[in-house]
Amino acid sequence: MKSLIINQYSTMHALMSGVFDGMFAIAEISQGGSFGIGCSHALAGEMIALDDTFFEIQGAGNVRRFSEYDQLPFAQLTYFNPSEQFPVSDISKKDLYSELSAQVNIDNIFAAVKIEGIFKKVWLRRTNYQKKPYKTFIEAIVEQSEETLHNVSGVLVGFWTPDIFHGISVAGFHIHFIDDERKNGGHVFDFELKNGLLSYEPKQNIKIHLPENSEYINADLTVDDLDNAIRKAEG
Ligand SMILES: [Zn+2]
Repeated sequence: MKSLIINQYSTMHALMSGVFDGMFAIAEISQGGSFGIGCSHALAGEMIALDDTFFEIQGAGNVRRFSEYDQLPFAQLTYFNPSEQFPVSDISKKDLYSELSAQVNIDNIFAAVKIEGIFKKVWLRRTNYQKKPYKTFIEAIVEQSEETLHNVSGVLVGFWTPDIFHGISVAGFHIHFIDDERKNGGHVFDFELKNGLLSYEPKQNIKIHLPENSEYINADLTVDDLDNAIRKAEG
């Protein structure tokens, strides 16, 4: 299916302020796309959706496939039909902007991005299961698992968000990784790509689906210094 829409489930305000209960079933969000990222109920892990499969990479590093009944607190999904793909080598996260900008002006629009390749290094984190009462996201990630993978082959999946939409989403590149064996991965802080294939699709629409449950409806979504909280949490 071709679509220029990014479907976003819940808001950064909700995630940052600690609305971690799963509110959107995989069966529902898979209607919004087969490609994307998110997080598990109670932050038990990171989600990466690729080729119609929704993977959960749990805090300790175990990977499993989500069932259609699993509920997620936050996700961004789209259908990925790359407009362009080209080989890249020896780049890290900071080079992604210039690589993409050389192809298309992304300053004012979103984009879905994918890199398949061999990585010298991928620096990851996975959030860990949170008990109620939930803390804020910034407090919860004190318990996150960090890991650096070396000489690994796999795929990066994620989104580019222009600065003007920081707060709606995470400005810059928000990307998740899963290895070719589907045995490891997580939210990506940074990477060093040896060589691979970068594909992208500009996205001109974002649709935000708000949860219907009382936890969201009644939540106080005021976050102190949201901009910095997001950069600290998802950068
Ligand atoms: Zn993430």
